[in-house]
Amino acid sequence: MSEKIAFIGVGNMGNPMAVNLLKAGSKIKVFDVSKQMLEKAREKNLETVDRIEDLISEEISTVITMLPEGKHSKEIYLGDNGIINKVSKNCILIDCSTIDIQTSKEIGKVANDRGIMMVDAPVSGGVMGAQKATLNIMVGGSEDSFDRALPILKVMGKNIYHAGEIGSGNGAKICNNMSLGITMIAASESLMLAKRLNIDIKKVHEIMKNASGNSWPISVYPPLPGLIDGTPSNNNYKPGFSAGMMNKDLKLANECATNVNASTPLGRMALDIYSKFCKDGNETKDFSAISKVIGGDAWDYPIE
Ligand code: NAD
Repeated sequence: MSEKIAFIGVGNMGNPMAVNLLKAGSKIKVFDVSKQMLEKAREKNLETVDRIEDLISEEISTVITMLPEGKHSKEIYLGDNGIINKVSKNCILIDCSTIDIQTSKEIGKVANDRGIMMVDAPVSGGVMGAQKATLNIMVGGSEDSFDRALPILKVMGKNIYHAGEIGSGNGAKICNNMSLGITMIAASESLMLAKRLNIDIKKVHEIMKNASGNSWPISVYPPLPGLIDGTPSNNNYKPGFSAGMMNKDLKLANECATNVNASTPLGRMALDIYSKFCKDGNETKDFSAISKVIGGDAWDYPIE
């Protein structure tokens, strides 16, 4: 791969995504505001820079961002030191962060006005999907931008979808994650109920995986320990995908729903449950730790 890539935000997701780009032969440099994350990147043989000013130049052919929220993307692209003014017109901008549709559109418009291609390309599949390069990637942008981004996205993901114009990637992702938040709570409720009914949770889990109650939280990412190896529930709920991030996505979903007058009562309820969970100090736990507050006192296990 002949791309010269600047990658910004090498946290839980960005790190393995950048590693896959390195393995594919791209010339990649990464930046993160966290020194700890830069150290982790170096451990994976990624070349790091300590200042964003040292990352972006006219030679860069692709910028990829994997940041927490819209305000971070906006600052990076359009802020005082915004990279949109520093890249050449041949560079494509790929924002893989899950952010609000409005901010995506705003950044995309400024890029477009300057003749620079941009796509929003949020991902689904979690840290395991990022490590295995099996992410689902939902892309918003013009046909040309999609075609230009596709070979790069294929290095990080398996299923790459063109959802529509800029902002549509995040629209699709927000719809997906509203379901994910709801089904994580539903999976927790079912498994906790099984516990109270004194039925072996392992058996109920096996049954649900093959029956009509299956869902991604059941089959891939169960919220209780001892069911599938390698999941955050087996690692003291170290994220993974944090409860704070899920809370952010549910907020985005509820804002979207209000804006277009869509009725999403379960989305609202999921937001209330995750908001309280985060307020109670669990923001940095994996989102599957929500099982801790579901189902009463039947399952009393500690999380640190
Ligand atoms: P994370 O917090 O682990 O990583 C984000 C990184 O961005 C951090 O290392 C942080 O230091 C860095 N950062 C923040 N502001 C920055 C700035 N101004 N300049 C440079 N670096 C900056 O989050 P994550 O779990 O990797 O998630 C990233 C995005 O991907 C989020 O939008 C999230 O919703 C989405 N997402 C996460 C998962 C998951 O399973 N973790 C899955 C799908 C999508």
